[in-house]
Amino acid sequence: MTTLADFDRVPLLFGPSPIHPLPRLSEALGGEVEIWAKREDCNSGIAFGGNKVRKLEYLAADAIATGCDTLVSIGGIQSNHTRQVTGVACHLGMKAVTVQEGWVDYHDLAYDKVGNIQLTRIMGGDPRVDPAGFDIGFRDSWQRALDSVIADGGTPYAIPAGASDHPLGGMGFANWAVEVGQQEAERDIFFDHIIVCTVTGSTHAGMIAGFALEDRDDRRVVGIDASGTLDQAIDQVTRIAQNTADQIGVGRTLRDDEITVIPGYEGPAYGLPDAGTVEAIHMAARQEGMLTDPVYEGKSMAGLIGMIRSGEIPAGSKVLYAHLGGQTALPAYAGYPGLGAPEREITAH
Ligand SMILES: *Cc1c(COP(=O)(O)O)cnc(C)c1O
Repeated sequence: MTTLADFDRVPLLFGPSPIHPLPRLSEALGGEVEIWAKREDCNSGIAFGGNKVRKLEYLAADAIATGCDTLVSIGGIQSNHTRQVTGVACHLGMKAVTVQEGWVDYHDLAYDKVGNIQLTRIMGGDPRVDPAGFDIGFRDSWQRALDSVIADGGTPYAIPAGASDHPLGGMGFANWAVEVGQQEAERDIFFDHIIVCTVTGSTHAGMIAGFALEDRDDRRVVGIDASGTLDQAIDQVTRIAQNTADQIGVGRTLRDDEITVIPGYEGPAYGLPDAGTVEAIHMAARQEGMLTDPVYEGKSMAGLIGMIRSGEIPAGSKVLYAHLGGQTALPAYAGYPGLGAPEREITAH
């Protein structure tokens, strides 16, 4: 039986990502639930960091071990993932080719120029904009990108959307769960709820597998769906969590109650905020100076706020909010009311 320590990892992070309390946010939500954050948004010096850099510690090690020289991946036009893939390739002296699809029906003036895609271009990446719609599975445009690397004499390493549907996709956040255990021991605290944004699923799935190693049943890992395709997200989390658990020596089938993906905070669609998302972004920003984005973290923040207000997260709980990054998409939403445009103005979006 293999364990997490058997898998090669290229260090790409500063070290354990910081954890800290959010006392003003806790107070603003009634003061009965203690809220902390663990900050993947500042986990690395590579391209602003984020959850994908943590996952890529394992995939990049595999790419190097298998003699690949070009990371090939796929995402939306404002993908955080493809920005991080490109940054990791630069850091390791590799190339990156990223297919960037029109997953989001949003037409801010500078949507395809600023934010993540701007940073990808500055890093000398090769973003290939394609008009296809939202899908977290494998696609033709992605296969064409792989073929073109081979035609140019390179050796591609294929990384699916979000680095999720990959044998090593869950490893980074299984390791995150182990890291949380160590940070809890150092501070003599136990987080009974973990709140995480779920889209392509391996962040949430890796946490489930990693915490399953602890063999205790009083910790809930709550995924807040931001995909708008709930059934697909649940399937993907379930599959990746079990696959990861099998590889790291959990040695049992995961229980249904270990897989929790909550709908209701996804907004009108993937990539589009609603009033609750914007309220959550404002609340975290104005209470704590902690910035979140309208695609992912604003939605998981809305879930955290909603579940405390409704009592689903009961008084006395200690919650760890996993901040996964994503603020680099904010400039692409500057025309959205409340995210740059004055709130009272109605703009076309
Ligand atoms: C990719 C991403 C997520 C979702 O993580 P998955 O592993 O795809 O479920 C959440 N937040 C941010 C900022 C992301 O970039």
